[in-house]
Amino acid sequence: MTPLEAAIAIPPIVTVCYGLLCAGSPLGNCRKCRGFGFAMKTDRKGRPKRGKHCRRCDGHGKRIRIGRRLFNAARRTWHDATAEPRTPAARKDTPPWR
Ligand SMILES: [Zn+2]
Repeated sequence: MTPLEAAIAIPPIVTVCYGLLCAGSPLGNCRKCRGFGFAMKTDRKGRPKRGKHCRRCDGHGKRIRIGRRLFNAARRTWHDATAEPRTPAARKDTPPWR
């Protein structure tokens, strides 16, 4: 495999692997609090202690991955573009049981 073939083949493989990761695990750990939901402090004796509540993830410790966020936005756009309008004029005059 030449370096050019590797340069062509590697980005799609990485993209597919990231897509599978986003499909299998859409939530990742918060990068600010590393999944704890709060900051870590130490007390005067040097022991670890719970710190402030994480404002970035609101204490959940999880965040939505960028790929999943993009997928959700694309799905929402597709749904909004293809959904039937919910207007009274679009309703059928006869109900389905007649
Ligand atoms: Zn956080």
